[in-house]
Amino acid sequence: MLKGFGGVLLRIVLLGPPGSGKGTCAKIIEEMYSIPVITTGDMLRQSVSKETALGNVAKTYMDKGELVPDDLVNKLVKERIMESDAKNGFILDGYPRSVRQAESLEQILLEIGKKLDHVINVILEDEKIIIRLSQRRSCPKCGAIYHLENKPPKIVGQCDVCHSNIIQRDDDKESVIKHRLEVYWEKTQPLIDWYEKKYSVKNIRGDIDINYLPIALKKLIEKS
Ligand code: AMP
Repeated sequence: MLKGFGGVLLRIVLLGPPGSGKGTCAKIIEEMYSIPVITTGDMLRQSVSKETALGNVAKTYMDKGELVPDDLVNKLVKERIMESDAKNGFILDGYPRSVRQAESLEQILLEIGKKLDHVINVILEDEKIIIRLSQRRSCPKCGAIYHLENKPPKIVGQCDVCHSNIIQRDDDKESVIKHRLEVYWEKTQPLIDWYEKKYSVKNIRGDIDINYLPIALKKLIEKS
């Protein structure tokens, strides 16, 4: 496993619609460079399952496929970026999702005297995303992800890792997926233009062969 990248530490933002494959890309980058993934969706889902004050508010938005208000998410991310394991870099997965969140991130980076190294945009067409997400099942305990056709669990309905019952997230139901995609195109797509003015945004397809994905990501990160 590579440790860092030639001594340079990496701060990466992963953009792309829900279900495009950002999470898979994030896990591969985490493995290759030993930097933590900060996944706002997972952090929010944890707060929801612990029924914290933030979780209770977030749930009302998440169940409908709406974005949780910027101020709440910005605070959550700021606290997480300040933790010691993120000082050597991080991969942001699912954040920022609005121009206001991107501005807040720039402010956090300014405060800690750092900058982003890469903005990577994971591309996948809506029709493919709908098929992918409606077949997705996840483990509520350990977070492992399955796909009924492409990556089914070994025992039907049971997580391979921790043997809990796997579930379909409420927001992976087809009507909610469609709304999440509408929200993405309205609120998050403008971010790509915003980032293009500041950084060079690099595109990668979210449906390339999983065996080739690590090489493709490494090329993207190291050849620039
Ligand atoms: P995800 O797993 O990234 O698709 O996120 C699931 C849900 O969590 C989204 O539909 C939003 O309701 C909420 N969420 C995750 N990340 C953010 C964010 N950066 N800003 C606002 N809401 C978010």
